[in-house]
Amino acid sequence: MSTTAIKQPTASDTALVKVNNLVKHYDSRSGLWGKLTGNPGSLVQAVDGVSLTIQRRETLGLIGESGCGKSTLGRAILRLHEPTHGKVIFDGIDVTAMSPDELKKIRRRMQIIFQDPYASLNPRKTIEVIIGTALRLQGLARGTDIRSRVSQLLENVGLKPDHMTRFPHQFSGGQRQRIGIARALALNPEFIVCDEPVSALDVSIQAQIIQLLDELKHELGLTYLFISHDISVIGYVSDRIAVMYLGDIVEFGPTKQLLNSPKHPYTQALLSAVPRIEGSKKSERLKLTGELPSPINPPGGCKFHTRCPYVKDLCRVSKPEIQQLQHGINVACHLIEDTMR
Ligand code: SF4
Repeated sequence: MSTTAIKQPTASDTALVKVNNLVKHYDSRSGLWGKLTGNPGSLVQAVDGVSLTIQRRETLGLIGESGCGKSTLGRAILRLHEPTHGKVIFDGIDVTAMSPDELKKIRRRMQIIFQDPYASLNPRKTIEVIIGTALRLQGLARGTDIRSRVSQLLENVGLKPDHMTRFPHQFSGGQRQRIGIARALALNPEFIVCDEPVSALDVSIQAQIIQLLDELKHELGLTYLFISHDISVIGYVSDRIAVMYLGDIVEFGPTKQLLNSPKHPYTQALLSAVPRIEGSKKSERLKLTGELPSPINPPGGCKFHTRCPYVKDLCRVSKPEIQQLQHGINVACHLIEDTMR
């Protein structure tokens, strides 16, 4: 287990979320994973010692292939999945040390938007009941106040108040995601984990939802951890980007600098896979080959060494530490260490 640290060089008191050496390992012995893989005694090392800081009102984009641990990291930060090790500090409060009652209170301030809004909306309840239940359980509205608050929330996300009497199946995918956003906003959160919120939508609808999230961020002063496997989306929405590979952060920095001059071979490969990102220079094409290794028994040394075109002997035995470069870019790669010596 190692630590990859994302530190913001500016004043630390502007940080809303601080994650310190967060680890999430799943014991597969009793789970479906163990039965499927035939490896029932293994640990799934989904998140392997991640540290990061998210500043108030910023969007930190988290990019990586499916299965790299980014959704698990987002959920562990909210304690929807219990961390194995490490700390999450939210607005100066240690979330990882909280009792269930304390956690329930702070959950008002930390919400999540899911990739598949349909799966997260009860098909037998109207939208008024779905959103109103959250308000009632947290004691934020009662009686007729619930109706007017739900009405306001639906308007805030571009839906009509009379939509509240409908059921989830009566909406399109984009509308359902708007309902998911309204539900996340119901408790007046400050921090939202956006977990692949547009991945299941058509491209034209993606743009509308991204625009809506951006407007809400500025109107309500929200802070986002925005998770996606799509570097184009991440490049558009993020103030800073963190690149995740097999449970580790391998590169992070300000969006423009990272897109213009990616340092880690994995980041270069992600950027090579898209024809062009606005504002980015076209880098040399670096094709990513092979599959993401299993988080059960991941490669030693640099976890990317099995797919890296620049691999050398050291990479197979030694894990590179994060190094801070110019312009706020930080990267974990032995090639960088060589050039810095
Ligand atoms: Fe490639 Fe080695 Fe750098 Fe890992 S440490 S990304 S294997 S060059």
